[in-house]
Amino acid sequence: MSAPATRRPARPRSKPKPQMSARRRRAIFEALRAANPAPRTELEYSSPFELLVAVVLSAQATDKGVNLATRKLFPVANTPAAILALGIEGLTTYIRTIGLFNSKAKHLIETCRVLVERHGGIVPRTREELEALPGVGRKTANVILNTAFGEPTMAVDTHIFRVANRTGLAPGKTVRAVEDGLVRTTPPEFLQDAHHWLILLGRYTCKARRPECERCVIARDCDYFRGI
Ligand code: SF4
Repeated sequence: MSAPATRRPARPRSKPKPQMSARRRRAIFEALRAANPAPRTELEYSSPFELLVAVVLSAQATDKGVNLATRKLFPVANTPAAILALGIEGLTTYIRTIGLFNSKAKHLIETCRVLVERHGGIVPRTREELEALPGVGRKTANVILNTAFGEPTMAVDTHIFRVANRTGLAPGKTVRAVEDGLVRTTPPEFLQDAHHWLILLGRYTCKARRPECERCVIARDCDYFRGI
């Protein structure tokens, strides 16, 4: 006779993590600022338009790879009219080493057309106008608003998403939840630079596979390191 089936005891529901205290949150950003007082993007650019092109090219590509391509492209064409004049084929010759270059070339040419026809060749400064450009989503718009125009926005990429969840700075299941959490809770004085600090932390220290906590400047206040 087979043994009577027994029910596995229900797992205790995991309690939501307590919210990080304002003191620890501030300590984290103070430590990041002390380690890197003037953070900046690793993409090379000299105008909002060059930054827009570099950010569009950087999707699923490394900043290093994008810089190698734009170092050749920008001396030849660094305005919407000039890139439009190159056409898709001409532009492709400069960016073919970058992943997804075909669709990126198409989007960039369309974006240049919109910039020339509707914005006088100038990169617009509002989220709505930026997100209306072909190939420009919320994350790209946030980078442009933050880095080119000094707005306190937060572009959440894979690094920031991981760091925000691990540290406890802004736990969230979606990119938008993490973005909103970081914008809501980051002390205003740090918000402008927080985007760069968190990306660099995720890229070089709080790596996906093995975070290097032993050399991390915010370990003392990080949930993951403290076992929270
Ligand atoms: S202490 Fe470790 S887990 Fe926390 S942010 Fe630093 S590297 Fe990441």
